[in-house]
Amino acid sequence: MKSSTDPVQNLAKLIACPSITPAEGGALSALEAMLSPLGFSVERPVFSEEGTPDVENLYARRSGNGPHLMFAGHTDVVPVGDETAWSYPPFSAAIHNGEMYGRGAVDMKGGIACFAAAVGRYIDKNRDLKGSISFLITGDEEGPSINGSRKLLEWAKAKGESWDAAIVGEPTNPGKLGDMIKIGRRGSLSGTIVVHGIQGHVAYPHLADSPLPGMLMLLESLLYPALDNGTKDFQASNLEVTTIDVGNPALNVIPGKATATFNIRYNDTWSDETLMAEIHNRLDKAAGRRKLRPGKRAPVNYELIWRDRPSHVFLTHDNKLIETLTSSVESVTGERPQLSTSGGTSDARFIKDYCPVVEFGLVGKTMHMVDERVAIADLETLTQIYERFIADFFA
Ligand SMILES: [Zn+2]
Repeated sequence: MKSSTDPVQNLAKLIACPSITPAEGGALSALEAMLSPLGFSVERPVFSEEGTPDVENLYARRSGNGPHLMFAGHTDVVPVGDETAWSYPPFSAAIHNGEMYGRGAVDMKGGIACFAAAVGRYIDKNRDLKGSISFLITGDEEGPSINGSRKLLEWAKAKGESWDAAIVGEPTNPGKLGDMIKIGRRGSLSGTIVVHGIQGHVAYPHLADSPLPGMLMLLESLLYPALDNGTKDFQASNLEVTTIDVGNPALNVIPGKATATFNIRYNDTWSDETLMAEIHNRLDKAAGRRKLRPGKRAPVNYELIWRDRPSHVFLTHDNKLIETLTSSVESVTGERPQLSTSGGTSDARFIKDYCPVVEFGLVGKTMHMVDERVAIADLETLTQIYERFIADFFA
């Protein structure tokens, strides 16, 4: 077997590259070396933005006249954590008991290794492929995601690129290969509330104004009632208060300021605009209440600061694409995968603005952990699923 058709060799080469975000680490060069012999033209644009590190990305296309299928993913990996806790060095790609160890083994160098192998096998059998296949690979998925897929998509579109469908190779299976396809993702929105009071002596509360009762009322209004009960395709939206900070070490001081931060994972009941409006509305109403602050001036003196950019919720409606992937998984594994929108965000949130997108990859159990590892057998199975998917897509 030539190396680019062997996912195990492909993955070993990728794992050997220490591509912790934002370092390229040799990983894009390794992928370029797999794709160039298959007839791909490869470009590696570097994107910059003030305040963030420059990031190198890769776009490879093998052109034809038919439909255009994009495979998307990232070669960057999260840090290894406590390296001494690993059973094998995290960039050694050691194989033990039928599993390959290494940072990125499942998230998601493994997915890339399998897709490259699948394309290699398919092109070997179909030299005159009419369609186009492209790889849209970023080095900035695990980091701030500013100089990554979003800019790479804009850059490619500006060159005249367009796509009919995309598959993202993130690890989507919770337990075993074939469990789950992702056909959408929840949105994510974060905010920080700052409540301003008046610092003072606890024995003279009439001279002070604690920010804490006001903060409690504001947070209660966000937590209750529930945002929604879920939809046909999504679980219920959820707001988590992630931190409440006062920083007051004294027992006899009423603090002057309190902050709290929350994150919402939301479903398609909302857009980021309607959800932001709902949050503002709830806070404004709660700020006017005196329940916990008798005798104090209403409303609570607060500000709300939205953090980062929201990630938008999306759901893929291309049933033909979903069925093509579902039947490819089923024909190789014998399992009909569940269609899910659960879990965190992925770069599919950027791709969905350009073409329908589905996600399927390895088993995610060990992602981001010490001893991240993948079953060698899964690499072969996923390669077969991808090859089947490519064949059915172009059929
Ligand atoms: Zn990932």
